[in-house]
Amino acid sequence: MINSSLKQLGDMLQAKKISSVELTQTFLSRIREYNPNINAYVALDEAKTLAQAKAADARIAAGNAAPLTGIPIAQKDIFCAKGWHTTCGSKMLANFVAPYDAHVISQFDAAGAVNLGKTNMDEFAMGSSNETSYFGGVKNPWDFDRVPGGSSGGSAAAVAARLCAAATGTDTGGSIRQPASLCGFTGLKPTYGVVSRYGMIAFASSLDQAGPMAKSAEDCALMMNVMAGFDARDSTSLNREKEDYTRDLNKPLQGLRIGLPKEYFAAGLSADVGKVVMDAVNEYKKLGAEIVEVSLPNNGLSIPVYYVLAPAEASSNLSRYDGVRYGHRAAEYTDLMDMYCKSRAEGFGAEVKRRILIGTYVLSAGYYDAYYLKAQKIRRLIAQDFVEAFKQCDVIMGPAAPSTAFKVGEKVNDPVAMYLEDLYTIAVNLAGLPGMSIPAGFSTSNGGKALPVGLQMIGNYFDEARMLNIAHQYQQVTDWHTRMPELNTQKEAA
Ligand code: GLN
Repeated sequence: MINSSLKQLGDMLQAKKISSVELTQTFLSRIREYNPNINAYVALDEAKTLAQAKAADARIAAGNAAPLTGIPIAQKDIFCAKGWHTTCGSKMLANFVAPYDAHVISQFDAAGAVNLGKTNMDEFAMGSSNETSYFGGVKNPWDFDRVPGGSSGGSAAAVAARLCAAATGTDTGGSIRQPASLCGFTGLKPTYGVVSRYGMIAFASSLDQAGPMAKSAEDCALMMNVMAGFDARDSTSLNREKEDYTRDLNKPLQGLRIGLPKEYFAAGLSADVGKVVMDAVNEYKKLGAEIVEVSLPNNGLSIPVYYVLAPAEASSNLSRYDGVRYGHRAAEYTDLMDMYCKSRAEGFGAEVKRRILIGTYVLSAGYYDAYYLKAQKIRRLIAQDFVEAFKQCDVIMGPAAPSTAFKVGEKVNDPVAMYLEDLYTIAVNLAGLPGMSIPAGFSTSNGGKALPVGLQMIGNYFDEARMLNIAHQYQQVTDWHTRMPELNTQKEAA
């Protein structure tokens, strides 16, 4: 049951072969057993969760179930969920109980899905290893000595360890795709504006986008049917007609043109990851695809540009945490300014402070033109590279992350090494395009346990249904997405 697809679970629920309460209990008991080691969840509320499962069973009995009714979903702790602690991985919000639901949460509620709990994450979604969380790191279920990736590390580990049926994540520079690659599941970052950011705690608003993290492309399509859609409460939400993301899953791939950017297979990519990615590309050839070489000449500028723009936006977004309205307030202070300073000094962790300092600097009067404005201009060039590439191909493929999961502690003291994790993902956010990571195989070249490798697919604007089709066809002829880590041996090791 824990390895069943969302479609299979939905069918079983609606045929009354299982109840939502039983299914939810199955996941809750796995969480009780494995979460103390993995640390994927930061908030659980069994009473609330089971009440939703009971309501779902009643809805199924009444005959008006939707596809995800009764299915337990883990929610990244960046989404406000009414009555739930919503911490964004920060001490700043450790005592914050959200008074309202994010759009994504209310969409799942309306679909009758069950909220299984809130998942751990890098503080304010800043990180690539989940090690900046105030609530501690998350273990990679394939090897407890390694990180799950970040910032959606808790959702990633929960999906990989089958501690939920599926989960939500957010991706500002790679936080859905990089953990999907490191933990071996399917993750989709939609086109910017397709999923409402209302009630999703802001990091870098021009880049932040929520998306599904699930076992398969078909599961992601069902999640997208719930998550996507216009919401007037987010000024960047796109007013488009509602789509059925499952509609193209079964289309053949004959004649598909796959672009391989030469910059994605250059220095920086581990040989073992490159090999798995090329094996996957060859599988696509068998499915009728043709390969063309493309170029994204400005990709090398994407990390420097991101680390000007994202901190600039973050420094502005995070100015709301002043100890006055909500969140952490220092216990002792002399005056108002001292209260602000102490509350922020105590409430934010080191990486968040680093970003606020960088952001404030690049926005300051003397440096705005040199850094922020320049970065905005290069952002346009990076987006233009994709426009050119898509003249030659239908989708772009390459690695999602430069290497397999790295060791806990390996990069924490080297921010630049950590930032390089997003070498293949950040440009996609800067351009606002949709991107996916799909399980493509394993590498044993670290000499230890087999570690998953993700294939990244980048599509043109609003091509999500097509990308899900392309991923689904691959998942019909491969079984990487069905592989599960052996948790008991891991538990002993921990
Ligand atoms: N790793 C990147 C960062 O630290 C991206 C994080 C994200 O996508 N939320 O900013």
